[in-house]
Amino acid sequence: MAWWLARSLAALGVVLIGGLLGAWVGALLKFPMPGLALGGLVSILLLVLRDSLRGQSLMDWLRGSLTGQAPRDSGYWGELAYRTERALRTREQQTRHEQERLTQFLSAIEASPNGVMLLDDADHIEWCNSVAAQHFGLDPERDLRQRVTNLVRMPAFVAHLQGGKLDEPVVFPGPLGRCTLSVLVRPYGEGSRLVLSQDITERERTEAMRRDFVANVSHEIRTPLTVLAGFVETLASLPLTDAERQRVLVLMAQQTDRMQTLVGDLLTLAKLEGSPRPAADRWTSVAELMHKAMEEARALSAGRHVLEVSGGEEAEMAASESELHSAVANLLNNAVRYTPDGGRITLRWVWRSDGGAQIEVGDTGIGIAREHLGRLTERFYRVDGSRSRDTGGTGLGLSIVKHVAQRHGGEIGVQSEPGKGSTFKLVLPAMRVRRRRMDDSLPATAALET
Ligand code: ADP
Repeated sequence: MAWWLARSLAALGVVLIGGLLGAWVGALLKFPMPGLALGGLVSILLLVLRDSLRGQSLMDWLRGSLTGQAPRDSGYWGELAYRTERALRTREQQTRHEQERLTQFLSAIEASPNGVMLLDDADHIEWCNSVAAQHFGLDPERDLRQRVTNLVRMPAFVAHLQGGKLDEPVVFPGPLGRCTLSVLVRPYGEGSRLVLSQDITERERTEAMRRDFVANVSHEIRTPLTVLAGFVETLASLPLTDAERQRVLVLMAQQTDRMQTLVGDLLTLAKLEGSPRPAADRWTSVAELMHKAMEEARALSAGRHVLEVSGGEEAEMAASESELHSAVANLLNNAVRYTPDGGRITLRWVWRSDGGAQIEVGDTGIGIAREHLGRLTERFYRVDGSRSRDTGGTGLGLSIVKHVAQRHGGEIGVQSEPGKGSTFKLVLPAMRVRRRRMDDSLPATAALET
């Protein structure tokens, strides 16, 4: 039965009973009809009063904080209160759920390495993550609801936002001048826009380095090639004596050597960059490596310098023998090339207090001015280009040494004074060096004795 019908019948019943009671009391007092009407009226008033009180208590609850329970009445008001409370709780739960999802969604965007900013149809900032705030120099809370073009005034950005080609990113220096930004604007919803920003400083730097590198390599190869082409033309077009021809051929051989050395160094660098780090458990003898490198330096010096080697007899290192040899040979090669005749070149193994060790190559050569020291390991960086080329340098030697050191967890350092000489050191960390245990040599001795 519908609630209104049951309720109406119940009310009718109460009014009837009230009327009958009124009529009975009226009959006792000799006025039955007015008693009937009065009884019915009083019943109606009582019903209205009861309804008002129950409605009032529900209204009080609805006007309040809605935290406690709704009034637990029976019948119509009870059901109304119960259903109102249930609808309210369901809505609250849905809102909480949506809020959690929104928080989760915003945290995901917050975790993005790129900047994200939401603009409304009048370019007011609706929300931005901290990366975007950092990129554009904004305060993610204070600057909300502000027009973005009042805060970010870079002409390239403003022009892009106000009519640029939105399907292409725009690149401009960040407002604080510390980075280069690439910004992409995407429309969504009704006039809203999504601004995505990316810090491309590192990418630009790498790209510039790559361009410089290609330009340098091309230049380094073109020079000997031009010289060779000139000689080839000379040989082909001029009638030369045997002695002249011989001299031209020697000069040509020098140029091809130069190209070969350059290509060799480039390949070494490429190999160092492309291969995994050397194993940390393959131990090799330090003394052997140092003596081998020193012999090569002696051959290069051809008696023009005094060469000394010291230390490392008891040392072993967990290193790639060929890489370490290449690094030490490069340092010795430089020492020979940049030390005038009669100078002294030393190769030393020195234990460090932190448990590591360093290979030092010292010379009494021309030295290097302080302002160049920080750039020596850049590819093709030379203090004196013509001296480097004349002595067969490629400008890549110290880059190779740095790469080798880093691949072994170490580093390269230099101390130098113009006119007095230089000392280069290749530092190896403690985990890559050890003193050979004395009994390591026993089996070999024992084998010899038997
Ligand atoms: P290069 O092939 O030109 O020697 P490197 O990368 O080996 O290239 O060295 C870079 C520059 O550092 C050299 O051009 C030279 O100017 C300087 N340099 C390196 N070693 C020494 C040294 N022992 N004494 C003086 N200058 C040096």
